[in-house]
Amino acid sequence: MKEYDVVIVGGGHNGLVAAAYLAGAGKRVLVLERLEATGGAAVSKRAFTGVDARLSRYSYLVSLLPRKIVDELGLRFAVRRRRISSYTPQGDRGLLVDAGDEARTREQFVRLTGSEREFEAWRRFYAMTGQVARRVFPTLTEPLPTRAELERRVDDRAAWEALFERPLGETVEEVFADDTVRGVVLTDALIGTFTHAHDPSLRQNRCFLYHVIGGGTGDWDVPIGGMGAFTDALADAARAAGAEIVTGAEVTGIATDGAVAEVAYGDGHTVGARDVLVNASPHALAALLGEPSGPKPEGAQLKVNMLLRRLPRLRDAAVDPREAFAGTFHIAEGYGQLQRAYEQAAAGAVPDAPPSEIYCHSLTDPSILSPELAAQGVHTLTLFGLHAPARLFAADPTGVKERLLAATLAQLDAVLAEPIADCLAVDAQGRPCLEAKSPLDLEREVGLPGGHIFHRDLAWPYAPEGASGGGAEGDSAPGGDVTRATGRWGVGTGHANVFLCGAGAVRGGGVSGVPGHNAAMAVLEKTR
Ligand SMILES: Cc1cc2nc3c(=O)[nH]c(=O)nc-3n(C[C@H](O)[C@H](O)[C@H](O)COP(=O)(O)OP(=O)(O)OC[C@H]3O[C@@H](n4cnc5c(N)ncnc54)[C@H](O)[C@@H]3O)c2cc1C
Repeated sequence: MKEYDVVIVGGGHNGLVAAAYLAGAGKRVLVLERLEATGGAAVSKRAFTGVDARLSRYSYLVSLLPRKIVDELGLRFAVRRRRISSYTPQGDRGLLVDAGDEARTREQFVRLTGSEREFEAWRRFYAMTGQVARRVFPTLTEPLPTRAELERRVDDRAAWEALFERPLGETVEEVFADDTVRGVVLTDALIGTFTHAHDPSLRQNRCFLYHVIGGGTGDWDVPIGGMGAFTDALADAARAAGAEIVTGAEVTGIATDGAVAEVAYGDGHTVGARDVLVNASPHALAALLGEPSGPKPEGAQLKVNMLLRRLPRLRDAAVDPREAFAGTFHIAEGYGQLQRAYEQAAAGAVPDAPPSEIYCHSLTDPSILSPELAAQGVHTLTLFGLHAPARLFAADPTGVKERLLAATLAQLDAVLAEPIADCLAVDAQGRPCLEAKSPLDLEREVGLPGGHIFHRDLAWPYAPEGASGGGAEGDSAPGGDVTRATGRWGVGTGHANVFLCGAGAVRGGGVSGVPGHNAAMAVLEKTR
């Protein structure tokens, strides 16, 4: 049996970050990836037959990736800031938020809401989240703070209360009066998270927090070359540092006595490891260890990738489509609409007006298109639909997906001056360039449990009370549940030599590399 210092289960971007750090520190590292390619949910793909457009197939924007990780691993990878942060159409008007022009944004708020009140509220609110971002973001790559330590770091009682203690809906309703503006703010609390503004569990607050602290600014940037450029750079860095990466290698079991482990994969292979890092979800980890896993997480989004012959014209003639589609374009995401769609989906129905947001990568970074496509004016369009929980699809996966897709595109068409279908490019066989993925598709293709894009609901970025925060990573898990331990770095599992290194770790979720970094630090600290 071959022996390694560290075996990493899964070659998603977090597994690759961990591999690059650990191999760089002189460890013998093996990465075992189930799929034929690395990258997990952070990949680029030519999704349409015979069309040379490398779409970021699943995740598409970068915010939570610390510069420190890019620099320390020497990655040749960069992001580009979007000038337009969002556009929200309202019939034949709309709200354009131009990150580079405050006067213009103010004018947009006045045009939509009739006064400067909402703009001033917006400025104050995002100044508050910006301050929290600057204080919280650097802690993500430090040992896990306690709740009290993080609150001291934030050092702003009102902000702490608004973001960490009260359901976000209360704050949004106090601060903003306009339904459209309230909706734009709330969407960041609902991405990949099936919940509502007043959920007493505060999962909406946690989701919101991760959407506004990235990079210490909350900006969502465009990965130049697409998401695949990032994970390819990571795989190169890991290999250059000496890590072995084997694809097409599904791990089927992990046995550990806390000191050494055996990892079974493929058709009867077994390797030995001092430490095992798990980039698969906590739910999958429990199964690999043969331990109880608790309820399965549930994803709640529809993902649609499109290629357009041209950008559609808008009903709002005052805005250039090249600006509107460059930022996050909100559809049917008014505050009241979000609540209604949530209630309908929670009751088991496809929402009448499914909320979604779309964004065009190629306006900011045309390098993902062949020169010919770029010259023809072709553009990519990616749509992320909210409130589409996996349970909706269970009885009739294809039929429900088709109905939801049709209802979602109808909402988009309602704000366009021409149907989106008329703008779709066609592939080599003459089929429209459009693909849609339900949570069930994401589970099957990428292994996301229940299609949950963060592997499970996001956790507060501090040690959970009652868990083993602050102690060694191997401290026992509460209730014997391997999915709930945290340890000093938020990556522990209750087994001294098994660590989470993926989205399901505390401070995981999103394209960040943070849990990969933190799991590597936990191993290096332990073996130093
Ligand atoms: C549609 C969609 C859109 C998103 N948009 C964004 C976005 O714009 N920005 C953002 O920051 N985040 C976004 N996310 C979330 C983000 O992509 C994920 O949270 C992130 O990619 C998780 O990375 P990871 O490396 O931890 O796990 P994953 O990317 O899930 O990788 C895990 C890897 O482990 C492998 N694996 C699993 N089980 C085994 C096994 N038994 N043996 C071997 N290998 C195994 C899987 O095949 C996979 O390659 C999006 C996600 C989705 C699905």
